[in-house]
Amino acid sequence: MRNDASGGQGSEPVDGLRFPFENVPGPGVVKQVAQGIYWARLPLPLRLNHVNVWLLVEPAVGAGEGGVAEGGAGEGSASDVLRLTVVDVGLGDQTTRELWNRLLARLGETAMPVRVAPSGGGKRVDSWQAEAEWLGAEQGAARGVKVEQGAAPGVKVERIVLTHFHPDHSGAARWMAEEQGAQVLMSRGEHEQALAAKREDRAAGAWSAVDRLTPHGLPGPTRELLLSSPRPFGHLVPDVPAAVVPLAAGDRVSLGGREWRVLIGHGHSPEHVSLYSEEARLLISGDMLLPHISSHVGSPVTYRLGNPVALFEQSLKQLEELPTDTLVLPSHGVPFLGVKARVAALLAHHRERCARLLDAVTEPHTAGELLEVLFPRGLDPLQVILAMNETIAHLAYLEERGQVRQRRGPDGKIRWVRASARVW
Ligand SMILES: [Zn+2]
Repeated sequence: MRNDASGGQGSEPVDGLRFPFENVPGPGVVKQVAQGIYWARLPLPLRLNHVNVWLLVEPAVGAGEGGVAEGGAGEGSASDVLRLTVVDVGLGDQTTRELWNRLLARLGETAMPVRVAPSGGGKRVDSWQAEAEWLGAEQGAARGVKVEQGAAPGVKVERIVLTHFHPDHSGAARWMAEEQGAQVLMSRGEHEQALAAKREDRAAGAWSAVDRLTPHGLPGPTRELLLSSPRPFGHLVPDVPAAVVPLAAGDRVSLGGREWRVLIGHGHSPEHVSLYSEEARLLISGDMLLPHISSHVGSPVTYRLGNPVALFEQSLKQLEELPTDTLVLPSHGVPFLGVKARVAALLAHHRERCARLLDAVTEPHTAGELLEVLFPRGLDPLQVILAMNETIAHLAYLEERGQVRQRRGPDGKIRWVRASARVW
């Protein structure tokens, strides 16, 4: 089309998106995406095989103009600890914990207080103290300065921000909070949902997702398989943070030396947190805006959203307002530019799904029967739960618009049909 103020960098456009970073960070590696913000990837044993996490370096404590820390400079002072805020933490399994230990050590070794000597001589400054800036050898070379590695500082995670309660984002939070003595920041809605999911995991007996979907035509074999397998939440989230600092829409929080505005999104999870920095034109979008995947939209197990698709649409429209040069840091995929194009594509995607369902309900069908209208065959049992939730969410959207009706038949099954159909 047009544009390209920041042209030149990155790969070619995909549907109006641009991807400024060529390579993704490998396992145990951190990659700088903006000053003081590092990107790392944690593996997921799922088809979606990774989650991105963001490490925000807090400005050095007591770094004064002259580079002398208050309360005594020199080796071993309090400011030799690199303080971090981490956004999302991955699963609560052993692999993820080990990787975190490696990542934090790596950050301490490669990205940390270094002495920077301007090339061509001149005085040496301790950039950590004087500029609150962290350079690796490569970045230093790119800027024509020689970087001498200082002693690796200790790294301490002071705060953990969770975008939402899903296990791939929050699973390791309790462990990390305890291990690091870190505060956890998340929305109340997400925390309550996590606690509720945990309670349900611990309770013997019914599984509400399965019970709720049974009248919607959850296939019998899938139901049996689900009831006999371990609950995914309990398995991937060993424990939920006991107490959190609540984040709410419009809150302004200072993280990594920048001010971020809290944007709350609905439809993917109860009160999903995205963080926007006006000054740096950065959006940590979580799962609300992903470059290649359309996030799951539906009612989670115990939290009943009336109309998740409409709520998701409204939430996307809020993101659409952001400036076009906003760099989006998503939880899955790679950082991208093109908020408006992505929002437009996602809105179109959900409209198209609604249109397909509407076409399919000239006669009454259960959500279970309609799965194949939206999804490929051969889903595993957990994917069936998500797919059914998503199908029901789109049907509920059509119902609210007066385009379909639902009715529970004498067999206990809930069926949906086009409003104009001459049945019932
Ligand atoms: Zn996710």
